[in-house]
Amino acid sequence: MTDSKKKTGINATQQLLLKRLPGVDHILEITNQDPELENTPRILLTDSVRQVVERLRNTIIEDHQQIHENDLTNETILEKIKKAVKSAMALNLTRTINATGIVVHTNLGRSLLAKEALDHIHMISGRYSNLEYNLATGKRGLRYTAVEEIICELTGTEAAMVVNNNAAAVLLCLDTIARHREVIVSRGELVEIGGSFRIPDVMEKSGAVLKEVGTTNRTHLNDYKRAINDHTGLLLKVHTSNYGIVGFTSAVPLKELVELGEQHHLPVMEDLGSGTLIDFSKYSPLREPTVKDSVNTGADIVTFSGDKLLGGPQAGIILGNRNIIEKIRQNPLTRALRIDKLTLAALESTLRLYRDEKKAIHAIPTLNMLTASIDDIENKALKLKELLEQSEDERLTTTLIDSASKAGGGSLPLFELPTKCIGIRIRKMSASVIEKTMRANEPPIIGRIEDDIFLMDLRTVAADELTGIANAIRTCLKGS
Ligand SMILES: *Cc1c(COP(=O)(O)O)cnc(C)c1O
Repeated sequence: MTDSKKKTGINATQQLLLKRLPGVDHILEITNQDPELENTPRILLTDSVRQVVERLRNTIIEDHQQIHENDLTNETILEKIKKAVKSAMALNLTRTINATGIVVHTNLGRSLLAKEALDHIHMISGRYSNLEYNLATGKRGLRYTAVEEIICELTGTEAAMVVNNNAAAVLLCLDTIARHREVIVSRGELVEIGGSFRIPDVMEKSGAVLKEVGTTNRTHLNDYKRAINDHTGLLLKVHTSNYGIVGFTSAVPLKELVELGEQHHLPVMEDLGSGTLIDFSKYSPLREPTVKDSVNTGADIVTFSGDKLLGGPQAGIILGNRNIIEKIRQNPLTRALRIDKLTLAALESTLRLYRDEKKAIHAIPTLNMLTASIDDIENKALKLKELLEQSEDERLTTTLIDSASKAGGGSLPLFELPTKCIGIRIRKMSASVIEKTMRANEPPIIGRIEDDIFLMDLRTVAADELTGIANAIRTCLKGS
């Protein structure tokens, strides 16, 4: 751009273009006659017309070289309006295809629900239910009753309740057990997890006082012992689920903390984060202590998420000592953090599937994807490759690539699961353009770029999503 253009603002071409640009009223009249836009709400239509006209006007003023006279015909403007209307009518929260291989992907909705859980939500949400009604007595009941029994059955604990998420569970437990008292935690366990949940901050909000002991890499039983005084209210162990400290490390096992707690009549709480009800080591390279382990070891209170390794809806599960659970139920904060009925329905159905471990692994998508065999993943990859090769476009190169998937969701950070990816290269199209096109697809397809190749990990892709992916790649080829 020359200096004179910058300074004088509007030149003759721009003036001409601005003159050609139809007015809002004129376009509205045209849209009124278009059958495709007949059922569009008035406000939305007017807004879209205004937006399109204003955008064109701004482009003419700012960089008119981007605009052609052809862009200003009624037809092209009408097309733009239809596009704007369509995008405004589309739901903001929409499904995506997760080709990242990260199973519990926090940004993509963490866990997918089992069909049984979806059916239960469907049944409970469209009808009245016994949410807080005791059918045996005809009197008021507790919403936690729906899941307490099954949690106790599966973990061997005395009592349980559930809240909105695990962050709420931790807050509620600290507030109930240790308000104005000291909570002893190892410095190696002062975790922050995504979405700014930091143990020290939560503790402050709860009114409990943080008493850090040990060092980042090593904490010994003696550190806890020395910190105990008249103000101590709780010994807390936090499962460092989203990172690992490796090398010269030492942490006090739950068992020793429980013994120390017993000696000093102090309760011991364990925040497991991504609690699991099955022993993953039986099915995969993943190793994670189970909720039952914590209960058996003697933790007075255990908390974990419903939508991490459990594979259920967003929820915080609290279990353990009956007296403590009773106190938590009576805490006024509980009302503010309570679980909603749709979540409760999904959680009950998910938990029930665990009565038969094989069934759970088959039916709960998170478990299914985490334990998927490499052959099953490779079969999906080969199927996708085959679908892509049907397009017989010599610009397209698809490669089967060995890679590693992550459990995600702040779970099992040190473990990598062997997986198979399909790498996409298109001649004269950069990986980032492919990535962007795939992300703009309906539904959006989320993959990753490695070594300038667009990669899709098939672990987290469902078999019925392969055709959609192949079609999206065809859209890329059309655009290249
Ligand atoms: C994930 C996690 C939480 C928070 O759980 P949400 O269900 O996401 O609220 C708390 N503590 C630990 C250790 C976690 O890993």
